Amino acid sequence: MDVPAFCMLNSWKVGTGMSETKWQNWSGWVKAHPHTFYKPQTEDELTTLVAEARGQIRVAGSGHSFTPICESDGTLFSLEKMSGLIASDQEARTARVFAGSTIRDLGPLLHNQGLGLINQGDIDRQAIAGAVATGTHGTGKSLKNISAAVVGFRLVTPSGDILNCSAEENSDVFHAGRVSMGGLGIMTEIELQCTPAYALEERGGRLSVADLFDTLDTLRDDNRHFEFFWFPFADDVLVKTLNISDVGPKPRKRAPDGQDGPADIAFRKLCEISRFAPFLRGRFQRQMTEQGGSRYAGDAPGRSRWSHDAFPSDRNVRFNEMEYAVPAERGPDCVREIAAHMRSCGVNFLFPIEYRYVAADDAWLSPFFERDSVTISIHQYHKQAYAKLFGGVEQIFRKYAGRPHWGKLHTLAAGDLQALYPKWDDFCAVRNRLDPEAKMLNPFLRKILGVS
Ligand SMILES: Cc1cc2nc3c(=O)[nH]c(=O)nc-3n(C[C@H](O)[C@H](O)[C@H](O)COP(=O)(O)OP(=O)(O)OC[C@H]3O[C@@H](n4cnc5c(N)ncnc54)[C@H](O)[C@@H]3O)c2cc1C
Repeated sequence: MDVPAFCMLNSWKVGTGMSETKWQNWSGWVKAHPHTFYKPQTEDELTTLVAEARGQIRVAGSGHSFTPICESDGTLFSLEKMSGLIASDQEARTARVFAGSTIRDLGPLLHNQGLGLINQGDIDRQAIAGAVATGTHGTGKSLKNISAAVVGFRLVTPSGDILNCSAEENSDVFHAGRVSMGGLGIMTEIELQCTPAYALEERGGRLSVADLFDTLDTLRDDNRHFEFFWFPFADDVLVKTLNISDVGPKPRKRAPDGQDGPADIAFRKLCEISRFAPFLRGRFQRQMTEQGGSRYAGDAPGRSRWSHDAFPSDRNVRFNEMEYAVPAERGPDCVREIAAHMRSCGVNFLFPIEYRYVAADDAWLSPFFERDSVTISIHQYHKQAYAKLFGGVEQIFRKYAGRPHWGKLHTLAAGDLQALYPKWDDFCAVRNRLDPEAKMLNPFLRKILGVS
């Protein structure tokens, strides 16, 4: 097939080879060699290209998943040129956006309409469709993941048809498609339930591990957003809260993507030293806990910012990550067991455990399907091997009936996953109907979804 030059990322030899990396994920561990990489600018263009594509088709967002979920040796699409706000409804507090928009770009666009996203995760670099497709979440006992805010979407199916999906229209595709890892087709537009623009005050500090578990339920219940970070070799944890603020929010000056701040430079240095001097990791973890805790000054008011400025951190020190969602009531036991394992397993690591809350939802493959959950994530510096560390912790997650984050590392296959998801077979039936030839599936997704 002729490849129109206007929508190729680079020109290269179509179908000839695996020599050049055309795409890689954020951590750098996943490299892809698609024979064709398209960046369409319109839905019409995309639809034609999908219908004509031969072989496997995948779509990538911003590449912030840690698994080979976007990998393709066939055709890879990016919707980064299909970005921006399409319309908003002030009364219903909804916004229709192009699926390739990054969460970062959407922040000010929604704010100008007097709206904000109900919740956000730790970073805002993801494409909104990429975040939705994996069930990306923030923290908050009564708050659901980003996919649960989706009230409708348009989907280009593998045969090149367009479906409008909502609770009323093509409702089975809507329930299957919100969290579907790009396995049903390509979303082009997404309608999001938003909330009136709001500001958040950030606070936090250091707590002993014993005090944390004594007060955990209160911290969870008394804050709109509560999470903690635990360096397993430290005796204290870092807690962080965000709550609605009436204080005039200060604008946030963001560094350009990938530009290190002083904290990044210092942390990267510690990662480099400790990977060659593992005996220092305990001291470094205690130091970082101490310094992190002093960022919040006693009872003084925390910093107040508009929500889209308050949620995201800039993460420039690269890592790989595993995260599972476990039933909320089992979270404390699970995290204690994980920390004990990490201290005794003999693997060198520096990053903290992160602990968050997510409310139950109804998307068939959401890790939070009908289950209030706690998410627990572990990280490994990108230059260090992660398999042994993550493998040991994964055994613990499985004891607690954990469901893996779809964008983060895990080793489960269809047989394991089917038992964790009550609507698994319904999802597979929709997928099979829309894509009987499994054009949208790469080997990783075939393993997950049990398609040979
Ligand atoms: C530093 C960092 C911090 C993170 N923090 C969090 C966090 O706080 N909370 C959390 O839950 N996760 C977090 N993640 C994970 C991340 O949010 C998810 O992996 C997310 O899916 C990445 O979005 P992306 O746009 O990069 O998508 P990609 O990783 O590029 O793709 C993810 C999936 O989306 C699909 N997809 C992309 N575009 C479309 C489309 N138009 N239509 C259909 N499917 C599509 C892809 O096919 C793929 O299956 C973090 C990751 C990193 C690297």
